[in-house]
Amino acid sequence: MTSTASKQLDDTQLDALVDELTYVKQAHEHDDCDKDECSEYLGSFMSLDPCGRYHHMLSPNSATSECVAYWDMLDEAAGKAGGYITGGEGDPTDIYFTWQQVGEQEEEQEEEAQA
Ligand SMILES: [Zn+2]
Repeated sequence: MTSTASKQLDDTQLDALVDELTYVKQAHEHDDCDKDECSEYLGSFMSLDPCGRYHHMLSPNSATSECVAYWDMLDEAAGKAGGYITGGEGDPTDIYFTWQQVGEQEEEQEEEAQA
């Protein structure tokens, strides 16, 4: 568990993001996605990023701590909402929320009581 020195983003914002992603998931029309994996487009990296620019997370001199905190929080929110954040296959600046589809296929528990 990492505790960042500056906690500018509070739990309220995290909760709001979790709510948003949960809503995205509920509003999802299970149509043209892989049968087990669903994703919804959240927006472009630039529209989501706090400073509105695309920066590579691997070059820390371009990303502000606010941006890093935001993307960390988005990741955490996605996890709490039961999925994860992914970049587009063709365009990494397209940000998607992806999750595994469960519920439609019921969990079948095989009961094998054999010694
Ligand atoms: Zn789907």
